[in-house]
Amino acid sequence: MTADGWGFETRAIHAGQAPDPATGDVVVPIHQTSTFAQDGVGGLRGGYEYSRSANPTRTALEECLAALEGGSTGLAFASGLAAEDTLLRSVCRPGDHVVVPDDAYGGTYRLIARVLDRWGVTHTAVPLGDLDAVAAATTDRTRLVWCETPTNPLLGVADVAALAAIAHDAGARLAVDNTFASPYLQQPLALGADVVVHSTTKYLGGHSDVVGGALVVADDGLADELRFHQNAMGSIPGPFDSWLVLRGAKTLAVRMERHCDNAEAIVAFLDEHPAVAEVLYPGRPDHPGHAVAARQMRRFGGMVSFRLVGGDEAAVRACGLTQVFTLAESLGGVESLIEHPARMTHASVAGSALEVPADLVRLSVGIETLDDLRADLDRALSP
Ligand SMILES: *Cc1c(COP(=O)(O)O)cnc(C)c1O
Repeated sequence: MTADGWGFETRAIHAGQAPDPATGDVVVPIHQTSTFAQDGVGGLRGGYEYSRSANPTRTALEECLAALEGGSTGLAFASGLAAEDTLLRSVCRPGDHVVVPDDAYGGTYRLIARVLDRWGVTHTAVPLGDLDAVAAATTDRTRLVWCETPTNPLLGVADVAALAAIAHDAGARLAVDNTFASPYLQQPLALGADVVVHSTTKYLGGHSDVVGGALVVADDGLADELRFHQNAMGSIPGPFDSWLVLRGAKTLAVRMERHCDNAEAIVAFLDEHPAVAEVLYPGRPDHPGHAVAARQMRRFGGMVSFRLVGGDEAAVRACGLTQVFTLAESLGGVESLIEHPARMTHASVAGSALEVPADLVRLSVGIETLDDLRADLDRALSP
């Protein structure tokens, strides 16, 4: 039986991770070496020569990620932004154009608007929910349409299959940042996307102990191009970081189920709470993207945002009063986090089209005991 026939959980635990034939290691070792001995000039024992080009621990992670996303090739990077930079500079030349969501992850927007623009790559920011606007934004120089779904921190939903059709009509590729959903909840390649992007720092790593990124593709020509740039640009993860992400990925399915269980219960709790004005979660039937999310996602994820009746002041106060929810940026770890986007993750976009409401609080709902999470929020929201 090959990984092709395996279910998601089996792929997470076994794809790319067969026991070592010589030693029997059940867990892929951390191959903490920069170089590999050769038997005569060019006589490579296991196909490896230098760890920037390839390292066995990283290969295991890359094969596992490809299997989880249903792609043919996975590539691991030192961070999500390193993965994005390598993708953008692999497919774009001076004069080329990228369509970006008007609520893109801030670091993605900064990379495209302030780094790639110096290399002559232009962009247009559009709301991805408006498919006519996306189609109108493409030009004959558009190489990529960039998609994130669900989005951060407003949890908007984009229709991956519809965006893929628009991108392909324009002769461009669709890249989907799948960080918020994780491959357990959503698999963009099967919906027509050409490239999946991850910050493995988040759900894939899952324990807030590593920064990493990944690209997964199904097209061999694009895979070769990305592999060339991964080696030529060199923003690769070390063996230990690769091992941490691979270890995290093994439990992705069970963690995501609990993240979703807890998030759904927290949404129901916040809905009833007098201090809360509005709850944003794609699992709610009244969410504008609910039908699309229900079609393309297995469940609706562990991220929940809400607005407070008491405005900005109440939001900042609540963020300072929780004890189980840790006040911190980032997301996707086993521990619950709380943050105030307007003053933390999204402070740099104040005054721009990407500005977020000041009364908004974002939760990354972890996998702790639900009663403890509810009691913690109740205390923090009490007058
Ligand atoms: C964190 C994040 C990134 C950037 O990843 P890093 O690992 O921090 O470089 C990109 N996209 C999304 C949606 C993220 O949450």
